[in-house]
Amino acid sequence: MSESLTIVAYIGATILFILSLGGLSHPESARRGNLYGMIGMGIAVLATIFGPHVTTIGIPWIIGAMVVGGAIGLYAARVVQMTQMPELVALMHSLVGLAATLVGYASYIDPAASANFSGAEKAIHEVEIYIGILIGAVTFSGSIIAFGKLSGRIGGKPLLLPARHFLNLAGLLIVIYFGAQFLKAHSVNEGMTPLIVMTVIALLFGIHMVMAIGGADMPVVVSMLNSYSGWAAAATGFMLSNDLLIVTGALVGSSGAILSYIMCRAMNRNFISVIAGGFGSEGGKPAAAGGGSTEPQGEVVPVSALETGELLREAKNVIIVPGYGMAVAQAQHTVYEITKHLREKGVNVRFGIHPVAGRMPGHMNVLLAEAKVPYDIVMEMDEINDDFGDTDVAMVIGANDIVNPAAMEDPTSPIAGMPVLEVWKAKTSIVMKRSMASGYAGVDNPLFYKDNNRMLFGDAKKMLDEVLVALKTA
Ligand code: NDP
Repeated sequence: MSESLTIVAYIGATILFILSLGGLSHPESARRGNLYGMIGMGIAVLATIFGPHVTTIGIPWIIGAMVVGGAIGLYAARVVQMTQMPELVALMHSLVGLAATLVGYASYIDPAASANFSGAEKAIHEVEIYIGILIGAVTFSGSIIAFGKLSGRIGGKPLLLPARHFLNLAGLLIVIYFGAQFLKAHSVNEGMTPLIVMTVIALLFGIHMVMAIGGADMPVVVSMLNSYSGWAAAATGFMLSNDLLIVTGALVGSSGAILSYIMCRAMNRNFISVIAGGFGSEGGKPAAAGGGSTEPQGEVVPVSALETGELLREAKNVIIVPGYGMAVAQAQHTVYEITKHLREKGVNVRFGIHPVAGRMPGHMNVLLAEAKVPYDIVMEMDEINDDFGDTDVAMVIGANDIVNPAAMEDPTSPIAGMPVLEVWKAKTSIVMKRSMASGYAGVDNPLFYKDNNRMLFGDAKKMLDEVLVALKTA
């Protein structure tokens, strides 16, 4: 394939990637967006393999690697549960970071790569390598820790080292100092020491940054690492002089940054504070630690599936608030069956979606779309929060942190300031979960003890099946 044909293919792929991002901005066009992305990636891969920069000897190696990688990807896609998606995504981000780091070292060591540059161009190439490895290493170690936290292998409690901000600042200064040493080096051997020191600091920084983040702030970290992986890919593109990789990396990097900003706004967090680590953890008390104005008082009132059915049948307005537990129980199809049944009986049923419900951005929207819930009754938090006062039943399905009034009522809570769905303002709220356990942030929930709240204990799918039977047999 000639150079010019490769460029045309790259431009085509870039356009498809932009259309893909546009499509992914709404559930209705998301499928089409995915298709554009897949076609774009197919074109990009083919144009690269058959482009002028890959020798014929290299092709069997690339195809061999693609078969192995493709088989692993296919296997993972088949066995990974929807609830494990966020951890899989974190693992994939770590691979992008690792790739950027390894490509950086390879292009520094490879005599053929450095032979192409001299003078100012050489300095620019070395800056690309240094920054590329820096971003790659932070992305790699940060994503591994995020994977550990999301999969429950590492506890969600933030690790707050003394003088952590000072440590971060010292790390940054050392990285700048060694960057200057790296650029001054006269040989690969001489440049290797500063490069390795910087890589170790970057790896430690990635670990420290994510370890210091509390459970409830993890959504921001996931989207931020997504952004980092994009910038790492862009840096790899600079190192390999591949325009498409630069553009694609920049698209992922900037869209991830916008998503992080949206997440921060949704959670009323300051982006810098989250990145600096430990936001909201000072003075916060973990679940059942005692003290504070929202210390749960009174008893919880359990309710049966039959009684839940009755409450729903008598209601005019119902808002369903799904959370992580609905994903675990895979209850979305039964939720829709109940919704359909109630709507046929004239009950106004809508869904209230919190921006950080579940374990990944858009988690609930994906599940509800899979169950074919119409988009027009799926409302965002801001659209529906004022309507709880006029609602007869707010049915919370496997959600906890996103409906926790402590976020509004207790300034010492680790989730203080995070906007939540105000389900307690409904005439009756029903919380469906298996036990009194806390949510991802590990914070006790005073909602459970409110006079107008009922607890329907059990697996969400099993309980909803019973509610559906109760509704249909009444
Ligand atoms: P939570 O994790 O706060 O609560 C989920 C609740 O579901 C648990 O309390 C659990 O209680 C219940 N549950 C679990 N399994 C079942 C089941 N089979 N049947 C019924 N209930 C079940 O989830 P939310 O959606 O309310 O909040 C999301 C949290 O995750 C927030 O803290 C958010 O910051 C964080 N997060 C979000 C990410 C995102 O991008 N959306 C990414 C990373 C973290 P029990 O065990 O008693 O059943």
